[in-house]
Amino acid sequence: MKNHSKLDFHTKCVHSGIDEYEYGSVVPPIYQTSTFKFKSAQHGASLFSGEEKGYIYTRMLNPTIEAMENAIAELEGGHKALGCGSGMAAVHTIFAALLSAGDHVVCSAAVYGPTTTLLNTVMKKFGVETTFIDTAVIENVKNAIKPNTKVVYVETPGNPTLCISDIEEISKIAHKHGAKVVVDNTFMSPALQNPIALGADVVMHSLTKFLNGHADVVGGIIVVKDDETYKHFRKTLNQLGGVIDPFNSFLVHRGLKTLALRMQRHCESAQIIAEWLEKHPLVKNIRYPGLKSHPHYNVGLKQHKGHGGMITFEVEGGIEAGKILMNSVHLHQLAVSLGGVESLIQHPASMTHFSMGKEARLAGGISDGLVRVSVGIESVDDLIADLQHAFVKVKEAHLVEAEA
Ligand SMILES: *Cc1c(COP(=O)(O)O)cnc(C)c1O
Repeated sequence: MKNHSKLDFHTKCVHSGIDEYEYGSVVPPIYQTSTFKFKSAQHGASLFSGEEKGYIYTRMLNPTIEAMENAIAELEGGHKALGCGSGMAAVHTIFAALLSAGDHVVCSAAVYGPTTTLLNTVMKKFGVETTFIDTAVIENVKNAIKPNTKVVYVETPGNPTLCISDIEEISKIAHKHGAKVVVDNTFMSPALQNPIALGADVVMHSLTKFLNGHADVVGGIIVVKDDETYKHFRKTLNQLGGVIDPFNSFLVHRGLKTLALRMQRHCESAQIIAEWLEKHPLVKNIRYPGLKSHPHYNVGLKQHKGHGGMITFEVEGGIEAGKILMNSVHLHQLAVSLGGVESLIQHPASMTHFSMGKEARLAGGISDGLVRVSVGIESVDDLIADLQHAFVKVKEAHLVEAEA
């Protein structure tokens, strides 16, 4: 593998994880095989003992998967990476590798829903206790750490409030107490935030989102910074079995080549749309890390290279207004997930979180008017025109006056 350390991120995206291949193939071949032949009994024995490097079985290691892993490890500034079948498989593998019964986790309260559930159900069942706090407030982290805290799990910007936690400060505190810092970097991607350089020990991504970027793969990745951790994580992943497959790895590796370009466009368009929304009379409580009105704007400036493609806001007029907005957009697609080339819009109160009921939603910071947009790479003028048209429909319903 070539040394790319001096190259610009755009160049790294194109060349990372790429090696020399048979027939002069420019891209990594898809080794769509479950198993690999040994040359002899002796060869098999030396592969299994680790004396010789090679491939044995795809759950253990596969060249197409490894090429994608190497690319992401390089982009994140880590030592090595482990491809998983989904973002949640990555989260589970991390917890299984780092935690034992009797251990304690400190976790961001604004975190991807299934991560909360995993900690509160499976991990709890196996004797791991979790304290959820607003990790954007450093004092909270100091106060939540206990003698048995082994992991501080941070998602920043967090879901769905986009609150920003200071990775560098949190890492200092955690390390003083012997705890590892794990960062879910899905919302930023390695193009915009490198948690390892800021002091984190382990980084995870849902590959499903910005890294693949084309809404056609479910996958996850874990990036670690030393070989000892890598070997331990590889063993754990091999036992749990939540690996990614060669074809999806190939697609993710292809997606990575345009990561820098895509992220640049996501950031530019999201900034323009956020500024436009902030001035709109039917919009309140807009959150975008690139707006000076964001409560943690300065922390974002310190640790982001750009502010990402995710925006949340509240539409005036409550749940009905949210529904009208959803039903009136044409270009923005109504769907969960994020980070693809296509813009997606979601209204938790009438969609993903409808069955929770209003009380429970409000307790989780989800107001009836809350809308989340994943800004794609379409023309920003077309995206604004689409939102503008939908806001006209909301206004025509006279919900704001009716509420007052
Ligand atoms: C989607 C997502 C996950 C889970 O990833 P899957 O690939 O859906 O399993 C974890 N964290 C964040 C921030 C996400 O957006």
